[in-house]
Amino acid sequence: MQPKALFERCSGCGSFYYCCKAGQISDWRVGGHRQVCGSYRDEAREFYVSPRDRTFFCTLMNHDYQRSKTAVLQDELVFRHTHPGEPYFLMYNYCDDKGLVKIEPCLLDSNEGLSGVLWTDTVARVARSKGRMHLDVIAFTTLDAGGVGWLAFPLRRNTARVDTALERLANELPKNRDTWDMGYVTEVLAALALPEDSELETH
Ligand SMILES: [Zn+2]
Repeated sequence: MQPKALFERCSGCGSFYYCCKAGQISDWRVGGHRQVCGSYRDEAREFYVSPRDRTFFCTLMNHDYQRSKTAVLQDELVFRHTHPGEPYFLMYNYCDDKGLVKIEPCLLDSNEGLSGVLWTDTVARVARSKGRMHLDVIAFTTLDAGGVGWLAFPLRRNTARVDTALERLANELPKNRDTWDMGYVTEVLAALALPEDSELETH
């Protein structure tokens, strides 16, 4: 089987990813990317990671996301249950070679290495997107002085179905997590984790 190109990348800034061309065009016309593309481009210049490396990171993250999808969905459910309405991102930590995927709240001032106008703009758009936009952040070790590099990947994908189902489940589950019917929860999450062919292709 031939691996298909997973995402469309904005060629203006090289920083925004889309599940399909149509999603990219709509984000440019009405989604607000046109207004911030230049700022993203300037930032990308400041902290240069080549488009090829960005695409590589994106593919790597998607691979690890698919691999740990059920566990991630469960973490998302718990986060939504305990922090209703708060935006979050998926942190992919490659500093310790584990490729660990973790849910982190989108804090505007205290996420280490993630701050500034673009971060604020990105978080606001994720919050507004009603599940259409996801934010992936990758942490990796840089060669200079063993530092840590951070890259945020705003990604629009067609996961409204998963988003709606997660939100509904988070709302209907009782407040006390110890009383959750885990058999039921696991069953719903496993169904949501099933790959959907159209997930990355249509809007
Ligand atoms: Zn752009």
